[in-house]
Order: sequence, then structure tokens, then C-alpha cells
Amino acid sequence: MYWWWNGYGYGCKTGMKIYEMTDEQRIKLLLDGGYLTEGQADLLRSRQTISTDLADSLSENQIGSFSLPYGFATDFLVDGIDYLVPMVIEEPSVIAAASNAAKRIKNSGGFRTFPTSRIVYGQIVLENITQASLSRLEQASSEIFEFAQNAHPSLLKRGGGVVSLNFNYYDEFVEIELGIDTVDAMGANMVNTILEKTSQKVSTMINGDVLCSILSNSGQGQVITVEAEINFDQLSTKTMAGHEVATRIVKLSAFAKASVKRAVTHNKGIMNGIDAVLLATGNDFRAQEAAAHSFAFESGQYQPFSEWHLAEGKLVGTLKMPIELGSVGGAIRALPMAQLSLAIMKIHSSKQLQSVVGAVGLANNLSALRALVTTGIQAGHMGLQSKSLAISAGAVGTEIDLVAAKLNQTKNYTIKNAQNILLELRDK
Ligand code: NDP
Repeated sequence: MYWWWNGYGYGCKTGMKIYEMTDEQRIKLLLDGGYLTEGQADLLRSRQTISTDLADSLSENQIGSFSLPYGFATDFLVDGIDYLVPMVIEEPSVIAAASNAAKRIKNSGGFRTFPTSRIVYGQIVLENITQASLSRLEQASSEIFEFAQNAHPSLLKRGGGVVSLNFNYYDEFVEIELGIDTVDAMGANMVNTILEKTSQKVSTMINGDVLCSILSNSGQGQVITVEAEINFDQLSTKTMAGHEVATRIVKLSAFAKASVKRAVTHNKGIMNGIDAVLLATGNDFRAQEAAAHSFAFESGQYQPFSEWHLAEGKLVGTLKMPIELGSVGGAIRALPMAQLSLAIMKIHSSKQLQSVVGAVGLANNLSALRALVTTGIQAGHMGLQSKSLAISAGAVGTEIDLVAAKLNQTKNYTIKNAQNILLELRDK
């Protein structure tokens, strides 16, 4: 058996699918495809968790490290570039769903992405400030801007820095809002450094108190749009024509706009993919979650991050949301697995990573909607869940597949059923 690779697709001469391979065969596939070096392959094979020193440096009171499955989604054609996308997730079916939809989209031309700026906003919050102090500050805004600009000189050298300064007024508060281009870093520490230095200068210019200085996780300066057009023939099921599937997806998308309860679940499916890539790349997924919450409420009513409509004989999906991440800095540089993920994707910038992450969100969304309007979500989901159910029931080694197969046959996905199947198996 040997692997076949042409730079765009992969497989092996036996016709084995990636999900049918062992983990060692998958590692070999990535090695042969030029996605991994021998050293990186060894890192994967060692199944090492992080070192004690690294764990101690990243967090407090550590007594170990916590592992989750690390896999990759396939067939992501994003802005003309083919990606394998590493994902860290404990939920069965998320990687399968991402790959499944990505292939349908690839066969229809791939994802197009439209990142905007990558600006992080920061707030210097002032209270009890007199009108005279406020006037002084407003007149000195160019001076404050210059000071902030020079507070992190390396950022300027990298082509980033402060891009805006605004005063915002609340009842008893005044806020100096800085917009900062953090280039490839997520930027929280950088922005906080700039804000704290600047607030010291500001405090010398006012009668009043600087209440705090902190970045905003609103993600307002990091909104990305991802689009995909899907041919109807890529959507059909055994029992439903592609056009009908597409029409039903559009209706369900409209329902998500009308129903907050549905919109939340619609968005959870998108976050399944987004969070899994953020974890795999060592990014701060809590920052992303916070940005997503804020954006969902932007119009005043909680809204879905994506919408689907029909145009020119195709199903067209558009995802629009902030994606708050970095491709350098924070834990990314310290975590070997995060570095490995960026290497597998051949990521060169935070904008590029944003595009891939957005595409994964839209792919997971399409898979969920297609399943919901056709077979229902449980058919595929529980089929994949059966293995973890088998393990929870006590199955080991070859028992796992046997118990899982029987669970899928009976379609009774309960721990009790799994235990009974295992007992029967061991009695034979
Ligand atoms: P860092 O503090 O690590 O700063 C980014 C680093 O990346 C800098 O050292 C910078 O070097 C370096 N760098 C290398 N190449 C580039 C490049 N091309 N573009 C930009 N920087 C580059 O991380 P962040 O400022 O990104 O902060 C992220 C961390 O902050 C995360 O761990 C997050 O969890 C945490 N955090 C989050 C908060 C929140 O979200 N509310 C609050 C506080 C912390 P140089 O300095 O030489 O330019």
C-alpha cells in the first residue's frame, strides 16, 4: 500500500478513506503530503502532553495537563488555497461534518473570504472628570495619540500601531477609545500595555480618576465575511433532490432570523468548528466567544452569524462575524501543538488564519442545516457517538468497534444498551 498525493487531493492506492485509517496511517499521509516534518510526526506519535515547566508558566496551581482529541478536517479550499485544518474537539461528528461540507463547497468552487481590518479597541475609562480637564484632554488628543503610538515601538516597526483615538461620553464616565492594529497578534497584552502606559500620561493631565484601562473583546474591528456558493447536485441525499434540500436550508435559515432559540443553536453549530480550530492553534477561545456574543446582539435582537439564500441556481451562504485571534504571541508561541497546527495549515498571517477559521464555521453550519432538513441530526451524530458510548460502558481494544457496530444496528444509544451488548460479547 502506498499513498497518492498531487498537492490538491490525497488518498491511497487501496482506496482507503482517511476516517478508515489508523492514526499512524494518517500521520504517514501527512508526512508524505509534506504537511509534517519527521520531528513533527514524532511529536504526534509521542502523545506527549505539555511539560511541567510549560504548564507552570501558563497557568497556576497546575497538577497535570488535560488532553482532548486532535484531528484534522479535509478539503478546505479557501481563497484558492487547499488546507487541511487541525481541530481539537471532544464532540464526535464535528470534524466529519466540517470535512463533509467543505468537500461539497470545494466541488462548487470553494470559499471566498473578505476580512476587513484587524483592529483591537481599548478603553481608558475616566470618572469624576471636570469639564476643564475634559477640554484639556480633548485639545491634547494629538499628543495623547503620539504618546500611545510610541508606547509599543516594536508594533510600529511591524506595520501596526494606533490607528484611531476617540472620546466617548457616558453619564458619569468619559472613555478614551484607542483603535490599535496588532498585526498578527491577538493583541490583548500589547493593547493593555499601550493603554496602561497612556493612562499614566492621561492621569497627569486631569483632575479626576482613571478608573481602568483595558482592551475591549467586542471584536468590532475584526469582522470577517465568508461566502460559499453550492451547486444543487452537491446537496442531494438518497431521498431528496439537491434543489429541495437547498430550499429547505433557506427556510431554516430564515427561521433562525425569526427565532432566538433557533438562532442560538444555529450559532452553536458554527462555534463547534471555530472553537475547535482556535483550540488547536492555542488561541484564546474565551475572547472569541465574548466577541461572538457581542456581535450576535448587534442589531438589538440576537441573530444568526450566517444566512442562506438561493441565487442563480445555487445555494449561497454568507457568514459574517468577528473572529478574534492571532497567529503569533500569547500561548501560541509556547505550545508545540499550536505551532504544529499552524505548520500543517501553512499559516503566514492572522488574516489568513481568520479566513480559514471563518470557512470552518460556515462548513459546520452547512452540514448541520443539511442534516436537520433531511435525515435529522441524530442519524450521523449518534452513529459517531457510539464509540465513546462503548468506551464509557467499559469496552476496550477490539470490543469498542464491535459494541459500537451493535449500537448502530439497534439504534438504541443508551449506556445500559452498550453495557448489555458488552456483557453478551464477553459471554460468548
Ligand atoms: P503577546 O503578549 O505574546 O504579544 C504578541 C507578541 O508577538 C509580541 O511579543 C510580538 O513581538 C510578537 N510578534 C511576533 N511577530 C509578530 C507579528 N507579525 N505581529 C504582531 N506581533 C508579533 O500576546 P498578545 O498581545 O497577542 O496577547 C494575547 C494573550 O493575551 C493571550 O494569551 C490572551 O489569552 C491574553 N489576554 C487576553 C485578555 C482578553 O482577551 N481580555 C486580557 C489579557 C490577556 P514584539 O513585541 O517584538 O512586537
